[in-house]
Amino acid sequence: MGDDCIFCRIVAGQIPAQRLHDDDQVMAIRDINPQAPVHVLILPKRHIATLMDADGTPALYGRIVEVARALAQSLGIADKGFRLLTNCGPEGGQAVPHVHFHLLGGRSMGWPPG
Ligand code: AMP
Ligand code: ZN
Repeated sequence: MGDDCIFCRIVAGQIPAQRLHDDDQVMAIRDINPQAPVHVLILPKRHIATLMDADGTPALYGRIVEVARALAQSLGIADKGFRLLTNCGPEGGQAVPHVHFHLLGGRSMGWPPG
């Protein structure tokens, strides 16, 4: 995918981001507008618009969860707890149409979310 997708541009190195994880399929970056002391985005490197797109495989999402678990450990939020979520589509609050999971921690989370 292309020049009009901000996360594809980050993957391609065209837009700077603080990378916390980078392998052949998955990347994790610091959110530019953090909503918690730890706020990381975990995303597939290839363009998949939303969680409902068929080209996202169970293996890929399993890997994303593994990366989230490793980052929760290395960023020191595993013990107290954290939140891992994805927003899907406009009513789900998805602003960037390239699948990503938010890893949030370092404070207590409210429920329900807004
Ligand atoms: P969502 O509303 O679930 O699509 O979340 C999009 C997230 O991407 C928001 O939390 C933004 O702060 C974050 N974001 C947007 N642009 C960038 C960027 N260039 N680098 C890092 N995070 C970004
Ligand atoms: Zn993209």
